[in-house]
Amino acid sequence: MNTVESSVLKSIFGHEDFRPGQEELIDALRQGRDLLGVMATGSGKSLCYQYPAVVENSRCLVVSPLISLINDQVKKLDLSGVPAAGLHSHATPRDRHRAIERWHAGELRFLYVAPERFSDPLFIASLEKARPDYMVIDEAHCISQWGHDFRPEYQTLGLLKERLGVPFAAFTATATPLVQKEIVANLRLQKPLVRVHGFYRQNLSFSGILEGRERARLERIRDEVALEGAAIVYCSSRQRVDDLTEELKSMDLPAYAYHAGLDAKVREQTHQHFQNDARVVIIATNAFGMGVDRPDVRCVIHAQMPGTVEAYYQEAGRAGRDGLPAKCLLLHSPGDVAIQQFFIRHSVESVPAEKRETWERHKQEQLDLMRRYAYGAGCRQQSIMDYFGDVETLPKGCGRCDNCTTPDAAPVQDDTQETIRVLLSGAVRLQGRFGNTQLTDLVTGSDTAQIRRWSHDKLPTYGRLREMPKRHVQGMIQALVRQGYLRQEGLRYPVLAITDEGREVMHNRAQARLGPWQPPPGQKKKRGSKNFSPVPPAPSMRPEAPEIPGLREALRAWRLNKAREMDMPPYTLFWDRTLEELCALRPQSLDDLLGIWGIGEQKRRVFGQELLEVIATHGASGPTRG
Ligand code: ADP
Ligand code: ZN
Repeated sequence: MNTVESSVLKSIFGHEDFRPGQEELIDALRQGRDLLGVMATGSGKSLCYQYPAVVENSRCLVVSPLISLINDQVKKLDLSGVPAAGLHSHATPRDRHRAIERWHAGELRFLYVAPERFSDPLFIASLEKARPDYMVIDEAHCISQWGHDFRPEYQTLGLLKERLGVPFAAFTATATPLVQKEIVANLRLQKPLVRVHGFYRQNLSFSGILEGRERARLERIRDEVALEGAAIVYCSSRQRVDDLTEELKSMDLPAYAYHAGLDAKVREQTHQHFQNDARVVIIATNAFGMGVDRPDVRCVIHAQMPGTVEAYYQEAGRAGRDGLPAKCLLLHSPGDVAIQQFFIRHSVESVPAEKRETWERHKQEQLDLMRRYAYGAGCRQQSIMDYFGDVETLPKGCGRCDNCTTPDAAPVQDDTQETIRVLLSGAVRLQGRFGNTQLTDLVTGSDTAQIRRWSHDKLPTYGRLREMPKRHVQGMIQALVRQGYLRQEGLRYPVLAITDEGREVMHNRAQARLGPWQPPPGQKKKRGSKNFSPVPPAPSMRPEAPEIPGLREALRAWRLNKAREMDMPPYTLFWDRTLEELCALRPQSLDDLLGIWGIGEQKRRVFGQELLEVIATHGASGPTRG
């Protein structure tokens, strides 16, 4: 950045410096490259697309579906002396006319346009006469059919890209890798720079608590929201919103409800309270979202688990916009998963028949990741960043979430100390490539295909904790992760690695402290029961494992047979990708199966056992055979 430019940054935008990631996106745009920026809300995407037009004196057309955002941005730019205008249905015909005139006269640096405009061929023809130097597609996830915000008008933007032939910069705050691909394809971006940034919110402290008891949950909510500033409590259903609002009111809290079933007038009042009252608690469904930009929301509680990490983070991220400490608490219970599955089953009906299978699998997968987040033992902030594919990492964790800050407990007894040392050295032997299940199988001396496959029965730690129930071992491993002796990495295929603190304990140079821990509940589930095990699957799987000859063929043959039996096309039963993952990861248990792409609870229940058998028969033989 030269001096002229740094003064632009200061005088026009009021910033001393770029935030991490901003400059790279700006440079790409200045070089005329297409790009997709996935940037968390509040992380500063508008600077990325506004800066180039200002320093290059070029013209930028921004597509945005949010009228309030358009008005805000136009006002801000105008105030800084940058000519800008907005075109949307709330503007008067005169203003709209004037905006188009100014654009054609070359007077505007920015023209913000609502997507409906693009269904007007005259408007598009007029743009061809006065092309922007580049176009910005805000809220680009609206182009995705997977998302919650699908907007048909966005579908035409890909054609526009071809007609105008100018660089496109797409931005969104929420896009999983699948949605990212869809955005790139549908907007016809050419070799775009794709960057994910800004999901780390250093002032937020995340925690997740499994709380099945109604009363205890209510008390926790009360204790959290009784502080100063605004609080939002999200629930999954309108009924829950109404009930909880009543309960909190009866506790003398300034509680107001918000959901789509309420009168427009009531909703407006709730909004007013939210905007204006010094202390206020809003109890809401996910309908409470647009325009929720009060900076001093001190806490966002989820009284039930949402269906995706994406939705969770978007809602939780409404806390602490002012940069001051704020809390994000997820209160969940095993029943929450069933509620979300109910939503999935019901909403699938509105999906075209040929897309249902894929859609439902996608939703199940998303739900499974959410469940892992809820029960996860690693740094919560890091697992959210992993989920979005953020390029930043927090090698030492965020230091704020419940898993990073579980207070040190008293040092444990000598025999437990010894147990912990065995677990830690087991983790070292597994070289950071396996998860909880494999470590458990190793130390308890289990004879599984995975153990034999990697010759882990030859390791000195094999069977050292043979007398300990597996559940206890698993619970203790989770506690070691919480205390920071082991680090758990990856949300999809979590693996365990030892930390520096863990090494100190392993070499007997420090005493381990465990904190409260218990074996994970719910393993004695009835067969075929619909309840989910509250224990997150901890796959003992190794993504980069070498292939085993014959397994793929065996799985395909199994699928073909099954499909014939059930009279359906084989790929509808299981997609190739699922078979590929089974082949590569070779899950060993029903829990592991849930980590496989395309296998939800239902498929696991119906086919799980058979799949495990195919894998056990063909997967254990090892590459030496071929
Ligand atoms: P969003 O990514 O949600 O569109 P905005 O572009 O509105 O976010 O930016 C969010 C806030 O961050 C704004 O108040 C903006 O002024 C501020 N901001 C953006 N870039 C920087 C920067 N480089 N330095 C300091 N503050 C910045
Ligand atoms: Zn953390």
